[in-house]
Amino acid sequence: AASAVKPNAARHVPPLTVSVDVPAKTNLTLHVGAPRAEWGGRHELDTIYCGVGVYDTITVTSKEPGSGFSLDLAGEHLGDLASTGSDMRRNHAVLALFALAEACGREPDVSLNIEKRIPVAAGLGGGSADAAGALLALDELWDLHWPIARLREIAATLGADMPFCLTGGYARGTGFGERIEDIPADSPAARQLKSRGFAGLAMIGAYADALSTPAVYAAFDRLGAGDGEENHLQHAAIALHPRSGDAIREAVAAGARQAFVSGSGPSVIAFVADEQAAADVRRAWTASHAVDRIIMAQAPAAPRIRR
Ligand code: ATP
Repeated sequence: AASAVKPNAARHVPPLTVSVDVPAKTNLTLHVGAPRAEWGGRHELDTIYCGVGVYDTITVTSKEPGSGFSLDLAGEHLGDLASTGSDMRRNHAVLALFALAEACGREPDVSLNIEKRIPVAAGLGGGSADAAGALLALDELWDLHWPIARLREIAATLGADMPFCLTGGYARGTGFGERIEDIPADSPAARQLKSRGFAGLAMIGAYADALSTPAVYAAFDRLGAGDGEENHLQHAAIALHPRSGDAIREAVAAGARQAFVSGSGPSVIAFVADEQAAADVRRAWTASHAVDRIIMAQAPAAPRIRR
């Protein structure tokens, strides 16, 4: 009797394909401390992360045992990624696949598809989002159901922003950005961020040109932080990419509640209170060509697994 199978018992079958939409990130504050030798020269950070609702979609599909992995990229703005065809093993999502396969003792016989909408090398954490999306999707595909804390440990070995990208929303990051304390949506800290305007409609001012994160840190080491700027990298990013500074000034003049360089730039984020203010910022940016394109997003945003 113990082994009897109920006639209607649904047998659990792991999925053959899983898709996850993962948002970009920005840093509402980014306080940069000293570089630390034990972190490979990375700087100590204290930051408030925020998920921003422009999403990459990561789809993982099981393949024949022994067939290895494959990677497909789709999107209109692939930056330097399109040319990495022969070098796809360096894609952050592929690194995440290898790291999780190793940690759980599986073969990486998976096809990875990335539909890219997050601008590349733009200070929006697109590579980290894709890695986090791959971890979330594979956790489901391989029926692991690991706690986020365990996925975060793997993510932290791959990059500073990846542990945050697993959950999105608001969170504080310390260490080199990888130590995450969640800021729940209904907490006093989250309410305070919202009341300062860091929520709702976020306009992303994006650029065709990229900024390399190491180059921005090198400029920061020379120039330091700007007066009163919550993003300590903003001054260095604007020194390397003056149009980001123009876009910030124009957004503020047009009524944005907050406008700042996202992470290491060059993208700019302008939070606006309503559609009217959004139209005013759009008009200013379009007239002056201070940005190359505008992406509208909601914040804070979190990953969503498609079932
Ligand atoms: P960082 O996370 O270093 O601050 P970023 O947010 O400014 O960077 P990303 O879009 O993550 O920018 O890209 C940084 C670099 O990472 C790119 O130039 C690219 O060569 C590499 N990279 C590897 N995999 C990916 C990926 N899946 N998406 C985007 N970039 C990737």
